Amino acid sequence: MNAVMPNYGNPTVSFERGEGAYLFDTDGRRYLDFAAGIAVNSLGHSHPALVKALKDQAERLWHVSNLYAIPDQIRMAERLCALSFAEGVFFCNSGTEAMEGSIKVARRFHAQNGHPEKWRSITLEGSFHGRTIAMLAASKNPKHLAGFGDPVDGFDIVPVHNMNALRDAITPQTAAIVAEPIQGEGGLRPLEDAYLRDLRATADEFGLLLVFDEVQTGFGRTGKLFAHEWSGVTPDVMACAKGIAGGFPCGAVLATEAVASVMTAGSHGSTFGGNPLAMAVANATLDVLTSEGFLDNVIRSGETLRAGLRDIAGRHADIITDVRGKGLMVGIVVAPEFTNAQLGGAARDAGLLTVVAGENVLRMLPPLIIGESEIAEALDAIEQACTALASAGDA
Ligand SMILES: *Cc1c(COP(=O)(O)O)cnc(C)c1O
Repeated sequence: MNAVMPNYGNPTVSFERGEGAYLFDTDGRRYLDFAAGIAVNSLGHSHPALVKALKDQAERLWHVSNLYAIPDQIRMAERLCALSFAEGVFFCNSGTEAMEGSIKVARRFHAQNGHPEKWRSITLEGSFHGRTIAMLAASKNPKHLAGFGDPVDGFDIVPVHNMNALRDAITPQTAAIVAEPIQGEGGLRPLEDAYLRDLRATADEFGLLLVFDEVQTGFGRTGKLFAHEWSGVTPDVMACAKGIAGGFPCGAVLATEAVASVMTAGSHGSTFGGNPLAMAVANATLDVLTSEGFLDNVIRSGETLRAGLRDIAGRHADIITDVRGKGLMVGIVVAPEFTNAQLGGAARDAGLLTVVAGENVLRMLPPLIIGESEIAEALDAIEQACTALASAGDA
């Protein structure tokens, strides 16, 4: 056995260097990176502003713990509050930790308001909230649960786009409704705006908190800083991670004042969360994401990419049945005769990296900095991949 546990399936490709939207493997081969570390490297590889922020901080101070005030953490929190619905932020190191934190603040909100019996969360089928013991129970994906015992209690799962099922699941113990505005790992499934509005109205009707998991959709991925802005529906609590610091591990829980204020001293914590290195890079990432015209360009790039993919789907309807997503979170739905992994493999042979998702979808999550030439190159690679798959099918 390899020294690294086999849970990642022992991948064979490895990279030596990255520059913008490109990665270079150990044989010197260049790939166009439309996986971006699974929606993480939102500014591409080796972005000069991020490299500078990290180097400058590395020479001053790496880590001190939250026993001390961290000025860049306060600054990042204040900026996030100014840019969103939130009035308080907790920093951690990953998406699943941000979701754990979100569930904890939702439970504690009710306990501190005299309802300790309200501790359960309603979650959605097809969701992905991470791999901790509790988040496995939140998503109840049988593949992820296998071998890990009974899912922990506290999560009631319902089908999406079915308000009757959701309302039926509400009990006096319900604390929160949890949703990804666009289900990422589940297959790039956008939740309808009307459904998100219904979730908000139902949460308000029953005094529940609405928790959005924007770990994948947040930080500009869909062309808005946060995906829920498209629907006009605002959550009470939001989990972020992936793109928040352009590749430096970082997560965050954002919440309204009513919720954030229940997290009194000692109620939650993280040793590494919000440390000076992470916060230097997160602030530098946010500088770029909020620069003039940046997100408009993400919207435009997404439209160009999807339009091009639809053209290809028109020529290869036997392979691609649909193209969906928002901004630069794009899903190619693969026909049942083929697998997303086959199309992804053929794309990689053509020099393009992508990621698979549920429902036989191939995901494109390029760096948000891509321009027309990278889009054209990616479309060319997908066209080549379709042609290769079609001729393999004929043979
Ligand atoms: C990736 C992801 C997570 C888990 O994040 P990790 O950093 O891998 O723990 C949680 N929720 C969503 C929506 C994700 O896409």
